Amino acid sequence: MFRTHEVKDLPSVEIGTKVTLAGWVHRRRDHGPLIFIDLRNRRDLVQVVIREKDFSATEQEGLKEAIRPETVVQIQGTIQARKPGNENPNIATGKIEVIAEKVVIINSAATPPFVLDDPSVVVGEDIRMKYRYLDLRRERLQKNLLLRHEVVRAMRQYLIVRDFIEIETPYLSKSTPEGARDYLVPSRFQPGKFYALPQSPQQYKQLLMVAGLEKYFQIVRCFRDEDTRGDRQPEFTQLDIEMSFVEQEDILKLIEEMYIHLVKTVTPEKHITFQPFKRLSSAEAMSKYGTDKPDLRENKEDPNELAFAFILDFPMFEKKDDGSLGAVHHPFTRPRVNNVEELKITDPLAVLAEQYDFVLNGYEIGGGSMRTHDPKMLQAVFEILGHSPDDVQAQFGHLLEAFRYGVPPHGGIAPGIDRFVMILANEPNIREVIAFPKTGDGRDLMMDAPSSISEQQIKELHLRIIK
Ligand code: ASP
Repeated sequence: MFRTHEVKDLPSVEIGTKVTLAGWVHRRRDHGPLIFIDLRNRRDLVQVVIREKDFSATEQEGLKEAIRPETVVQIQGTIQARKPGNENPNIATGKIEVIAEKVVIINSAATPPFVLDDPSVVVGEDIRMKYRYLDLRRERLQKNLLLRHEVVRAMRQYLIVRDFIEIETPYLSKSTPEGARDYLVPSRFQPGKFYALPQSPQQYKQLLMVAGLEKYFQIVRCFRDEDTRGDRQPEFTQLDIEMSFVEQEDILKLIEEMYIHLVKTVTPEKHITFQPFKRLSSAEAMSKYGTDKPDLRENKEDPNELAFAFILDFPMFEKKDDGSLGAVHHPFTRPRVNNVEELKITDPLAVLAEQYDFVLNGYEIGGGSMRTHDPKMLQAVFEILGHSPDDVQAQFGHLLEAFRYGVPPHGGIAPGIDRFVMILANEPNIREVIAFPKTGDGRDLMMDAPSSISEQQIKELHLRIIK
């Protein structure tokens, strides 16, 4: 057995117990005949004392040489109460220490390229990303990943007890119109054809409603080839939700109750400014705050304030830079009109949509809409967006076909997980809450991706590289 206890278990272990521990040397201090080690598992530390008198001279020589920060060791020893005055109130095991009887060096560590045990030292981000596995040993990221895990776990639990089922949808898929550039994957079997990595599971989740699943969710990665910024990554994670036989109000209510619950269970120290969440029309938000993701906190200095809001009544269509019309959310969103004729005779830019954005402290943390379930209406929307009938058939034929077989009214939403966790963790950007993020120009510095591929791979994929 490698260890009898993890460091976190030690506060409840009786004095005098013999334990075997294993972990990393967090810090080492020498005091004459004593070597002190802070031994680390995850974020937990315990003091280990190596007394000169318990080891032979050669053993001592070896240990002095080998016990360096980040070395992996196994320690056998006895739990002892620390002497009064030597307690450390800053760590959970601060009242005890382990008197070492045997020390095994499992793996020695080279000197890390940056300091791991002092959060006040500022380390350049490139080096943190290149050695992400070391960066992840630091308390800040350990804490953030744990928080993220707790958020995701609470989301899952919340939805599962309400009868939602978690369903995976494909990553190798077809280009979807969510407004960003697609990541494309060449097909080996179909020369010249490409899969697209989904910008979201939008069409799949709607097809799951056609399939009668009624309440779907998925913690899912989405891929968008856009310029990365502090709150954007080429791949990011959404809590994707879709429901049948609901109205907008049902979805807003579900989200509001879920997020109040999440905050209460995961970060009870935070307080929510508006309950129920503030609601604003997009026009109101623009005229009052000049943005459709306003920061509505009463005190912007307060790291524990959460001002959630729903932004409603977005226009259905907008003019794109090239003058053509685009969908503000996506074309599957239901326009707020009574029938197809009304849609056809109304100025498209005056048509509102059953769309809602979910906003927190100045960030958009989600968006969704009620969907058009009438195939004729969907067809009319595609026409307004300038798609030719052939184009509609090629891009969305599968959906229109599916809608011929009995489609329930449905709608959904997709709150982003990275931004929400970033805000809860009081972090300045989402890279701090993602285990392996990419740089601003989309590189993974640790894996050195993207990278070149072999001639053989290029040939198999029927590609030619233009330099
Ligand atoms: N697929 C949408 C998005 O990623 C969300 C939705 O409409 O449910 O923004």
